[in-house]
Amino acid sequence: MRRKIVAGNWKMNLTFPQAKELALRLNTWVHANKPSVEIIIAPTHLYLDQIGKDLKNSKIRVASQNVSAMENGAYTGDVSTEQLQSIGINCSIVGHSERRQYHNEQDKYIGKKITHLYEHGMTPILCIGEKLEDREAGKHFDVVKEQVTVALERQDPDKLKDLIVAYEPVWAIGTGKTATPDQAQEMHDFIRKTIGAEHGISIANTTSILYGGSVNAGNARDLFEQYDIDGALVGGASLNLDDFTTIIKARY
Ligand code: 13P
Repeated sequence: MRRKIVAGNWKMNLTFPQAKELALRLNTWVHANKPSVEIIIAPTHLYLDQIGKDLKNSKIRVASQNVSAMENGAYTGDVSTEQLQSIGINCSIVGHSERRQYHNEQDKYIGKKITHLYEHGMTPILCIGEKLEDREAGKHFDVVKEQVTVALERQDPDKLKDLIVAYEPVWAIGTGKTATPDQAQEMHDFIRKTIGAEHGISIANTTSILYGGSVNAGNARDLFEQYDIDGALVGGASLNLDDFTTIIKARY
């Protein structure tokens, strides 16, 4: 079944007291409002242990923003799946466009991260999306198809059942320029069909495809009305409790 999900990617924002306060206030809201939507937050690695503990009995799932493609060993500054798992974290974003842009991460390498996550029984949130120049050149479908295909090839088909994909056009991230609901729907439909053609229709129909890129309290509802948009991966607006909870309410 496709799950409705609203996820907040906190990126490299918030001090520890700010992050802790936001997580606890969100938890209080979730407890009071009992939203019928899966909620995920992804603070920096540094806070995962404490925030994971603070939200231990909560409906909110705490995820990592990134994970190493390596198993363990001499990889200074990296964090492995096993390390995440050892503090109770069972979900990680992979392939975010900021990792692709600033750390030169490529699709094959991102696929390795997904394999490690699956080997440890964890859930990946695979981020894909074209750059402005790709869209202007009419290459956006080709680029996204390549990203999905390479990252998911050779993954164990049984494990793909709870896959989460986030379509985040790079030109919409942090720019205030959201894809129109029609543009997003068109690409989500294409992504689902691509997954269906490569991994079978039942996997396509259980994959939750989130939209990301300048989602806010004002535009979320129109995006969520689209048939293939199962939720959102929210950056800036997830740092504000009122904005984030308004987005969650739009997904009910
Ligand atoms: P913004 O919502 O700030 O555009 O960021 C989107 C994003 O990159 C989420 O991963």
